[in-house]
Amino acid sequence: MKIKKGDTVLIISGKDKGKKGKVFEAFPVQDKIAIEGVNIVKKHRKAKSEKEKGQVVEVPKPIDVSNVKIICPKCSKSVRVGYKIIENKKYRVCKKCKQEI
Ligand SMILES: [Zn+2]
Repeated sequence: MKIKKGDTVLIISGKDKGKKGKVFEAFPVQDKIAIEGVNIVKKHRKAKSEKEKGQVVEVPKPIDVSNVKIICPKCSKSVRVGYKIIENKKYRVCKKCKQEI
């Protein structure tokens, strides 16, 4: 998967289109990512004891990786990611500024 945890991405489709956020969880098997502040769903957490109150927590629901573009930390533009291989190591590169990201 081209996007990793910690990347900043721009949402390019769906109800959160135009939002930016940081990836805090990547799910490579499902090709999905969870982004801070994006696609928030409310979950009810049950009280664990009688003293505690049940509460509503807001958690981001993972979205499809095809709905986002990575924001290059070098040129600050939303870009497509390419790869280069140097001495058998794979690096991600920004297709715009050609820098490693
Ligand atoms: Zn760039």
